[in-house]
Amino acid sequence: MNFNRRNFIRTSGLTAIAGFAGIETVFAVMKNKSTKKSGKGLVLRFVQYDLLLNHTFTIANSSRNSTPDMLTSIEFDGITGYGEASMPPYLGESVETATKFFSLLDLGQFKDPFQMDDILTYVDSVMPGNCAAKAAIDIALHDLVGKIMGQPWYKIWGFDPADTPNTSFTIGIDTMEMVRQKTLEATPYKILKVKLGQKTDRDMIETIRSVTNVSLCVDVNQGWTDRQMALDMIHWLKEKGVVFVEQPMPKTAIDDMAWLTENSPLPTIADESLQRLPDVMKAKGVYSGINIKLMKCTGMREAHQMLTLAESFGMKVMIGCMTETSCAVSAAAQLSPKCEWADLDGNLLISNDPYSGVQVVNGKVILIDQPGIGIKEIKKVFE
Ligand code: MG
Repeated sequence: MNFNRRNFIRTSGLTAIAGFAGIETVFAVMKNKSTKKSGKGLVLRFVQYDLLLNHTFTIANSSRNSTPDMLTSIEFDGITGYGEASMPPYLGESVETATKFFSLLDLGQFKDPFQMDDILTYVDSVMPGNCAAKAAIDIALHDLVGKIMGQPWYKIWGFDPADTPNTSFTIGIDTMEMVRQKTLEATPYKILKVKLGQKTDRDMIETIRSVTNVSLCVDVNQGWTDRQMALDMIHWLKEKGVVFVEQPMPKTAIDDMAWLTENSPLPTIADESLQRLPDVMKAKGVYSGINIKLMKCTGMREAHQMLTLAESFGMKVMIGCMTETSCAVSAAAQLSPKCEWADLDGNLLISNDPYSGVQVVNGKVILIDQPGIGIKEIKKVFE
């Protein structure tokens, strides 16, 4: 299919198109339809692929049954690497912004996929923000280069796949009957992540404890505003077998958070407080650890840098995800042997995963000994 400028503008409503040479960008703005431009060198494709959720996702004033997502591929010399941008609405990216971002890229100046650092530094410089779209390029490039090298990234980075942690399974805020039911369904998992930050916090924990003795961690999503109350809750949670507390207070409450971490009997983990590499420095002394997510930090390259920096500060690291296909989850899992905790259940929450990759067996992350990020297409996404 020929995809010219006019077609693109007509179907997408977007106007920003850059010129291309060498590494070519291919537009695919019609849902589930991708196009490929013929030519030599790297070929970038992207396609909208909304993720269908197994359960309706409800937050304070909205609910949704799908997550906007774009899948990417970069092809070079007959080898294809896959990437993904998952864009939950609260993060501010969308299919439109990602399409615009991809269309602005001019990768033609780079002739060698191994020049990853130059390529990804350039991608980061094209526009501010757009972290998920940047991650979609970063992941596809890592997958491609790993495939050319014939090695998975956990090996290239020197990690032992036997060191992968257990992954947590999330229990959202719900009626106590649903919480009980979801807990019973989560039996293969060795650690459950419980969403707190409401008046029902103690009821949530008591309900879960009435049916399981498994380890718990809690994610408060900035829900506690009084530091003494937060400390009292953490003492109580420790007695209930909770192992860490994620983002207990608002991200702006830096002094209160530093006090809480200093006095807390459990590790505190930054999530909303932290996005990219410079934020790790800011989290030092305020939190005990950080939650790294590829969609927030622009992908595997920066995630690896954040991991290394946090380790040098003696901070604990958790590797997390959004609702994602096995593509981005498998990419994140490459880092997991060096992480204390993993929260890599994003691909288990959707019903239309087009890839297979990282597995969870008896609650533990199992890396696949396959090159790149170790995924296989089980449903054709790119024509
Ligand atoms: Mg969180």
